[in-house]
Amino acid sequence: MDSNIPAENMNELISLSHTYGADPDYVLAGGGNTSWKSENLMVVKASGTELGTITEDGFVTLSMDKLRTIRVTKYPDNREEREERALEDLMDSRLSGQKGRPSVESLLHAIIPDKYVVHTHPALVNGLTCSKNGQRMAEKLFPDNCIWIPLVDPGYILAKTIDDEMSVWMDNHNGKLPDYIFLANHGVFLWGNDSEEINKKYKDLFNTLKNVCSHTDAVKIDIKESFSDSFLQKIGKLAGSQGEALFTTGSEIRSVLESRETIFNLQQSLSPDHIVYMGHTPLVCDDLFEDQLITSIEKDYKSFNEKWGKEPKSVLILGKGFISLGNSKKGSETARLLMLDAIRVIRISNSFGGSEFMSEEKVNFINTWEVEKYRAKLSDNG
Ligand SMILES: [Zn+2]
Repeated sequence: MDSNIPAENMNELISLSHTYGADPDYVLAGGGNTSWKSENLMVVKASGTELGTITEDGFVTLSMDKLRTIRVTKYPDNREEREERALEDLMDSRLSGQKGRPSVESLLHAIIPDKYVVHTHPALVNGLTCSKNGQRMAEKLFPDNCIWIPLVDPGYILAKTIDDEMSVWMDNHNGKLPDYIFLANHGVFLWGNDSEEINKKYKDLFNTLKNVCSHTDAVKIDIKESFSDSFLQKIGKLAGSQGEALFTTGSEIRSVLESRETIFNLQQSLSPDHIVYMGHTPLVCDDLFEDQLITSIEKDYKSFNEKWGKEPKSVLILGKGFISLGNSKKGSETARLLMLDAIRVIRISNSFGGSEFMSEEKVNFINTWEVEKYRAKLSDNG
């Protein structure tokens, strides 16, 4: 068995990864993943590598036979046991000598028969996948050409759900696949046998969505008002000795943060990325003088920590802007990116009947899932 991906396919995979991974309209915080497969092998992005700058070393090579075995294995009903066993089998599916940790979404890639798969979490698409009318609108905008996957726990269960939905679809369509798989509160999967096919599908997808959404741009930032450096340093130290606090504002941000009523949506969770990188819910403070604000944030930070067993990553200051926290510069920058993305996704979802958020139970799963703790740690470390 040939254990190498042909060089021209590797180059095409890397170039596809850079095109989509380096564009914040498609992925943030190194999220999203790409793969290439043959009958015997699948090369997929390893966890903790950034798509936008990935090199050959950032991929891990898996055996398609072993991945096919995972698809027919009966795992325990108990959630922790099931996820642990499936993850073990996924690690075992690596060809010998492969060191990277395959993304937990590798199983999803393995199900799709085409050569290349590019999975992303674009704000524009998530405006649809995180909306009340998401499924109905997806089926209307992409008639008989998409599969909608409802919100299920990520990991093995998500892969299994897609596997089942896809075989039903293919049975009903003479073995033909649709162009898109939309994952509620998550993102999109699409595929092709070369870059051209993938690029065309993304182009069609974006054009169709832009045609029905009024305002899809990124959230604009300004520096109308800020805090003193010493204030931000003190707040940053709450997140650790290397901690950082970043303040962000802009006219749209100020209007979203106008009152305790208008911030309701930002206190909910849109997707696993948002939970992992900006926290499942922010602290909320009135716009006080700096010394009073420090006291208030310190107190709330402590009670958040006691309640959830983790640190908050975002603080909303009513009418003023938001503070993003991380135990490194990168951690706080990532938290900021995801908050800006959340505001954009919520705005776009208004074109589809308003936002649909993750349930408390689904949020808790992400908050306690080992795989996501691993992702959060990598984000802080750099
Ligand atoms: Zn994903």
